Amino acid sequence: MMLSTTTVGSFPKPGYLLKARAQYSRGELNKNDLYELEKKATQEVIKLQEKVGLDILVDGEMYRGDMVTFFAENMEGFRISGLVRSYGNRYYRKPIVVGKVKRLKPITIGYFAFAQSLTSKPVKGMLTGPYTMAEWSFNEYYGRKEDLVLDLAEAVRGEAEELEGAGAKWIQIDEPAISTRPEEIELAIKALGVVTAHLRAKTVTHICYGEFEKIYPKLLELPVDQVDLELANSNYDLLELFRRHPFTKEIGLGVIDVHSHLIETKEEVKEGLRKALEVLSPQQITVDPDCGLKTRTWEESQAKLQVMVEATKEVREELEGRLKE
Ligand SMILES: [Zn+2]
Repeated sequence: MMLSTTTVGSFPKPGYLLKARAQYSRGELNKNDLYELEKKATQEVIKLQEKVGLDILVDGEMYRGDMVTFFAENMEGFRISGLVRSYGNRYYRKPIVVGKVKRLKPITIGYFAFAQSLTSKPVKGMLTGPYTMAEWSFNEYYGRKEDLVLDLAEAVRGEAEELEGAGAKWIQIDEPAISTRPEEIELAIKALGVVTAHLRAKTVTHICYGEFEKIYPKLLELPVDQVDLELANSNYDLLELFRRHPFTKEIGLGVIDVHSHLIETKEEVKEGLRKALEVLSPQQITVDPDCGLKTRTWEESQAKLQVMVEATKEVREELEGRLKE
């Protein structure tokens, strides 16, 4: 279908889950009780997406607080730091590589299988890519960064192939760190190639925070079917790059600004889509928000997605009308 709709991955966690996660981290709640609440929240996220009418669903990432620590905690070779200050007054725990990195057990498979069992629509398998995992960890073990990145690639490959075995038709391997170090894009391409080499599922990578002028058109060499990019937040400036050098892959087209409380109007989204269709074909485009929705409220997420789906439907009908003429 042309102009399918999806989301980048994360949804806001319901209040009861935030509370339960805090209790769990203080040792006041056991893992099973937490898991039951994660499942409840996953059911709500699936229900919301079906209600809004999205085509490709996500599990909402109710079981993880970030992109890297969650995976590191579930692999061998990492220990997790105490609280580290990032920007402003935000603190987080950073993974530290202290040994050879390996995947010993399934990490997301159970969560994926649960989410997929709730719907007949495809649910994307969601992973963080090897380059981003290395970039956002402290390395105290490997002499060469490349060796760390490639061991991580093996670990992520194992998880991706098992997701496919569990029925994932779409697998998204996020690499938001790629655009922050343009000089290392070759390494990121090589590592992602290890992950996707044997996959038959549709593969996607999401990249944000970009200085895309520096990695485009090199970006098109990423060994995935689809590259997912934020366009709404940058006023669709990237389209100028695509005008100069055609975008040759499928694209996940971000049309909703996830950093803003304001709900886009249908006209704004339609205008963005029409602009994109000047340089991209409808078969190339999957429509989604710029990034994960976890910093928005539940109500904002629903309202933004509703606008996105309705606007996309109208543009799709315009295109179909034009095809019939
Ligand atoms: Zn993003």
